[in-house]
Amino acid sequence: MPIREYACENSHVFDFLERKKSDKPKRCPECGSGNLTKLFSTFGFSVRSSGQMRRIADHFNKESEMKQDLKENYGVENVSPIGARNLSEVHAEVKSTGSYVKDKMQENSEKQATARREKKKEWARGAMQRAPKRRLEMKERRAAEAAEKRKIRLS
Ligand SMILES: [Zn+2]
Repeated sequence: MPIREYACENSHVFDFLERKKSDKPKRCPECGSGNLTKLFSTFGFSVRSSGQMRRIADHFNKESEMKQDLKENYGVENVSPIGARNLSEVHAEVKSTGSYVKDKMQENSEKQATARREKKKEWARGAMQRAPKRRLEMKERRAAEAAEKRKIRLS
């Protein structure tokens, strides 16, 4: 059974005995945080460099900073990025547009629905106007044809 190393968002590192491959620790034994990341280790040798530790801490710090900024300054909570979007993309979008991608998608679909309704109305209005005009055109064409036939008969 391999021993895996995990780190929590507060940079506590601890060992975890992996009985099955799907086994994962739920909480940091030191602070109880559930925000954990697995550290890479090979054959039980720790590859815990200071650079790696800094990157892990930076990653968690940046994420919680972004979440805090979104919550405090934009009222955006429980960010769940859509599709390939990650937290920093969502954060950048909220910062530049002032709204979350979800709001924007909603707004877009409402705009499209309104545009479709307007187009239909427009078409219906046009059809009503076109119909009598077409009847008139037919009448004129038939009259012209009849006049032509009379002309042929007279000559
Ligand atoms: Zn911890």
